[in-house]
Amino acid sequence: MISLSAPEVPVPAPAEPGRTVTPTEHRAAAVDRAATAGPLAVLGVPGKVNLDYAATAPCARAAADAVAELLPWYGSVHRGAGALSRRSTLAYERARQCVADFLGVRPDDSVVFTRNTTDALNLLARSLPPGCRVVTFASEHHANLLPWPAGTVRLPVPGSAAEAVRAVDAALRELRRGSGGGAPVLVAVTGASNVTGECWPVAELARVAHRHGARIALDAAQLAPHAVLDIATLAVDYVAVSGHKLYAPFGIGVLAGRADWLDAAAPYLAGGGATLAVGAATHDVRWVDGSARHEAGTPNLLGAVALAAVCTALGEADRAALYAREQSLLARLRSGLAALPDVLELRTFDDAAPRVGIVSFVVAGRDSAAVATELARRWQLGLRDGLFCAHPLARRLLAEAAARSGRRDLPPTALRASIGLGSTPAHVDRLLTALATLG
Ligand code: PLP
Repeated sequence: MISLSAPEVPVPAPAEPGRTVTPTEHRAAAVDRAATAGPLAVLGVPGKVNLDYAATAPCARAAADAVAELLPWYGSVHRGAGALSRRSTLAYERARQCVADFLGVRPDDSVVFTRNTTDALNLLARSLPPGCRVVTFASEHHANLLPWPAGTVRLPVPGSAAEAVRAVDAALRELRRGSGGGAPVLVAVTGASNVTGECWPVAELARVAHRHGARIALDAAQLAPHAVLDIATLAVDYVAVSGHKLYAPFGIGVLAGRADWLDAAAPYLAGGGATLAVGAATHDVRWVDGSARHEAGTPNLLGAVALAAVCTALGEADRAALYAREQSLLARLRSGLAALPDVLELRTFDDAAPRVGIVSFVVAGRDSAAVATELARRWQLGLRDGLFCAHPLARRLLAEAAARSGRRDLPPTALRASIGLGSTPAHVDRLLTALATLG
């Protein structure tokens, strides 16, 4: 049975006799309500605490409502003349516009619906112009590590944001020198690490990339759910996101960005919807330009509409206040973990680097999978354990944590707690209590 989880929806604390509720308390309560009720309330099962938003965030009511409203009108997209089909086509293209507005795309950018971030980055990898070199970091999620072609420059994990900028600068200078400046280059980086939550200096990296005549692609799978992301302001060339990390259901993602490489590339999928005309001979095909070129086959209408509904709800919310709320939960979580003697947080940058609501850690002397199982069984807490599809980074951070702490009893994998809309202080405290009393 699915129900809205609102066990701890806060209301302004009743004023003690002689004391009125302050404007700050009122605002905090309003922000809590925005995050735990209304269109941004998340679906869940009472009693079960999801601390695994970084893997898949729960579905927001905005998404569920949008799907329920459209279901009776569900028809073919871009293919029929009937009312259902026309309405579905309109809903699909409106969804594209909502997502474009949410991401702040430029007027001539393409917005392609994909299955997820992995799919979006694979599409971009297949659309690189001939001879294009790619520069990325060893700290990336596998989705931004593995799709790139042979010859990709994989920079070592940097120790700080400034070091990341310097490393990209040096790598691009080297590539320019090697190619005489003619070959296209793409820098592919994450906005926020799925292991540490640390934010990367995206705007600075974009400036450096452009100064060297390169383009930059942003893996925003973990940044977009937590912070305002505006393609034009960050001046990135491409952005990839996943719907299921953005409070929408599985199976929808987006690649948005410069249209020229995408229009010049072979269609990602060959098939109906991507064609202008098909002749009798095997290769007699003319393909369309624009988003449809890479969206052959019947599209994921419900996914697109659900994602758009969340984008609209987030766009209408006070994002700065939601961000501040999450930061306060994150600070509670991190300081609580730091107070536990056997718990060590994994980090790439220094302690004070900006982060989104993701924390990876180990419990010294404990197997991470066994701890995750105990947290789930005894405490109804859902966390992730493992190397988080970022094996090179996670292994390195585990080794660094061992060296920093001098402990020889760290497990070979880690635990990750991640929060978002719907998370509350009580959820964080339950995890901290559980860790303090591990069996
Ligand atoms: N990039 C980052 C930073 C991620 O955290 C993830 C998933 O965890 C991905 C890419 C891949 O996302 P998806 O599995 O939705 O394709």
